Parts: sequence; C-alpha cells; structure tokens
Amino acid sequence: MFSLGNLPTTDEMIAADLGSHMHPFTDHDALGPGDLRVITSAEGVFINDSNGGQILDGMAGLWCVNIGYGRQEIGEAVSRQIAQLPYYNTFFKTTHPPVIVLSEKLAQLTPDGIEKFMFGTSGSDSNDTVIRLARTYWAGRGKPDKTVIISRKNAYHGSSMASASLGGMQFMHAQGGLPIPDIHHIGQPYWFDEGGDMDPDAFGLMRARELEQAIDQLGEDRVAAFIAEPIQGAGGVIIPPDSYWPEVRRICEERDILFVADEVICGFGRLGTWFGSQRLDLRPDMIAMAKGLTSGYLPMGGVGLTNEVYEGVSQDGEFAHGYTYAGHPVSAAAAIANLEIMEREGLVDRVGSHTQHVFAEKFAALGDHPLVGEAATFGLLGKLELVPDAASGSRRRFENSGEVGGICRDFCFRNNLVMRAVRDSMVCSPPLPIADDEIDLLVERAWAALDQTAAAVADKMA
Ligand SMILES: *Cc1c(COP(=O)(O)O)cnc(C)c1O
Repeated sequence: MFSLGNLPTTDEMIAADLGSHMHPFTDHDALGPGDLRVITSAEGVFINDSNGGQILDGMAGLWCVNIGYGRQEIGEAVSRQIAQLPYYNTFFKTTHPPVIVLSEKLAQLTPDGIEKFMFGTSGSDSNDTVIRLARTYWAGRGKPDKTVIISRKNAYHGSSMASASLGGMQFMHAQGGLPIPDIHHIGQPYWFDEGGDMDPDAFGLMRARELEQAIDQLGEDRVAAFIAEPIQGAGGVIIPPDSYWPEVRRICEERDILFVADEVICGFGRLGTWFGSQRLDLRPDMIAMAKGLTSGYLPMGGVGLTNEVYEGVSQDGEFAHGYTYAGHPVSAAAAIANLEIMEREGLVDRVGSHTQHVFAEKFAALGDHPLVGEAATFGLLGKLELVPDAASGSRRRFENSGEVGGICRDFCFRNNLVMRAVRDSMVCSPPLPIADDEIDLLVERAWAALDQTAAAVADKMA
C-alpha cells in the first residue's frame, strides 16, 4: 500500500492499478503493464506522466477541460466553499447561494428561452433526467401516451441504462439488456461514411427527413421528443451537411414534439459560441450539459429547460426525481469560478473570432497526408478520416475497422500527443486557450504519427 504523499515507482503503481482498479470502456484481458500510463500533473494544454513525459492533450481530457489545466483559482473557490458549506441538499424547501448564483448565470448564457435548471453530476444522469422530464411534461399536458424519444444511430448520450439506450451505439446496447422501451433511433448525418454517391446537402436533407418519417410511422401522438448532439462527438466528430439542421428545425416546429440539444460537448465555448445551439440556431426546448460546465475540475451536470416545459412538468404534481448531489455546492462553486474565468479571459469569443480559424487552417494541412481522406473542423472539434487510398479520392474504408485508428492513436501517444480513435477516425478537441504555436505542435505531432501509421500499414501489407 502507498499513499499520495509518497508515490512508489511507475511499475509498482501500474502493478497496483492492475491488481485492484477496473477501468471504464476497457478490455481488461488485453490490458497489460506496458499499456498503462500514469498521469501525475498537468498545466495549460499539457499533461505530464510519471516518467517525465510531457503530452499535448488534444482531447482536453474527455472533451471537458475547456479552460485548460492548472487553474489554481478553481481550487481556491472550491476550498472556500468546503470551509463555508461542504454539502447541503436542495430537496425539501432548502437552497444555497452557489446553486442560486449558478442557475442565474446559466439563464444568461444559455440559448434564448432556456430559463430553469435542474442539476446532477454527469452527462449521463442529465440525459436520464431529460427522458423523465420529457415524458412527465406530456403527462402534465394531458398526453401521457407521448413517451417515445427519437434519437440517432451512433449518437452518444451517456453510459447509464437510460442514457446508453438513448445513445445509438450497438456495441453498448449489446451488453446489459438495452435499450429500455420507447427509444427509437434514426440515421445519422454522416456523409463521409454513409453518403454514397449523393451530394452532401441532398444526403443531409434525406437524413433530416427520417425524423419526419419516424414521427409519421410511430404516430405524432406517441412521440415525446427528439434528442441530438449539435455535432456528434464520441461517434466521431460528425459534422452534418449544412442542409441538415434547418430541415430538422422545420420538422420540430411543424410537429408537436420537444427538441432536446445534448450540449455536453458543444456547450461552453467548444464551437466558438456559449452553446452549439446558438451557432446552429437550434432553439431547443431542453439542453443537457456537463463536461465544460466545470471544465472537469469537479463532476457536475444539468438540464436547462424552457418555462413551457417547466410548467408542463409541474402540472403533473411533484416531479419525483432528484439526486443527493443535485446542485452540489462545491461543484457549483467550481462551475461559477470556471464561468468567471471564461468570461474574464473572453475565451468563447477568442475561439469564435480567432482560434477556430487558425485551427481550421492548420488542421486542414493534415488532409494532404496520403492516409487522410478528409480533415475537417468545426469550432475546436477536429477529425481525420483514415482510408487506404485517399489519393484517388475514394472514401472506401480499411478492411478491419478500428485497427488502423488504434495504431494511429498509439503512435500519437508515443509522439506525446493525445488524439482519440473512433473506429478509423482520429478526433481532436483541445482546451479552448490553446495557443497558435501549440496548434502547430499538435499538427506536427499528428503528421509524424500518420507517417508512422502509414509505414506500419505498409509493413503489414508487405
Ligand atoms: C460525455 C457525454 C455524455 C455523458 O456524460 P458523462 O458525464 O460521461 O456521463 C452525454 N452526452 C454527450 C454528448 C457526451 O459527450
């Protein structure tokens, strides 16, 4: 046994980890001592490992460390709040200053019409709350049969039973008896993989109209809501064709259903606006948030809703839902400090007016690599589609999906860059304060990893 004040060697820590720690989204049979890195500290856009490696974190942790690492100000706010009031609940006619300040602040920053906030501790539990709110809203409005939530294949909405059901990942549904009833999935606007010979905008319209067809098929009197990420993140940074969102909006406006934007990644500056809904003009009835809300410094999530939804839910009487840590004062203090940093430093405006353009231009250069069929960005989200014959313009994929992506991810890490592989797409989501020369470094390291990946693929073919 060791303590945080007295760390043993890296090998000893890894042995202890493998002995007693079970990792999320990990095949433990394939996890050996050589595969683990111990991350011990971080500053700005860099994380440091126990062997002295300094790694550029192109993923901002898991899409969440929006303000970057090492902000002592958050620690000070948290420490003050723990001294003042470490915990109290908000269930039975009580409240506390941090949750009040945060709610008011969010009412200013979130898309027009979003006025009320209910809190939790993650994106997953926020989406569980979304399902219950949507169904309870319709019950309150006298339409209790409107229970079906329409979502999309390859969407990611979390890992709890309900949020994973809402998500469209087959490999997640395959474990543990998912999905729960009354979730319906339609196609995703992923032109690169699924667009065939169609023009991207025609494809975008077609995928949007699947929503209309699903509503017709299920019956409008059965459908409660449509939920979607403004830009799919974990599914592979899927940027819909320009035609997609306006058509979805048209359908949502014509039909009597709620629209929920899952802003867990796109919220808090990632797309150069406070929320993705503002940039894409989505006008949601509810939003789910987490990740950038606290920049990951402490766990917190929440749902924002319109007064219309709030009043509908209230018509059903007590909303019998809530978590012990809903609106946790210490997490709320971290969120407030996080938002203050973003505002004071103008981080969201800086992404919108400067960084996203620099990122777009420099990241596009990776599209010239012979392994890359497409390099695309939107705000500070980026992705590379890896294909065997990019030079010919073919979008055909590698035979064994995910193998080349995995190789590339490992080479990125060896070149001191974190990029994540989703099948054979490499995705990227750096902290918002990333400097221009750090973007250069990111692109340089990614290019080196692509070269090494190409060599490894050529070796395998030979
Ligand atoms: C990460 C994520 C979630 C789940 O959030 P957790 O905090 O991991 O539960 C939900 N929706 C989206 C879009 C996400 O990216």
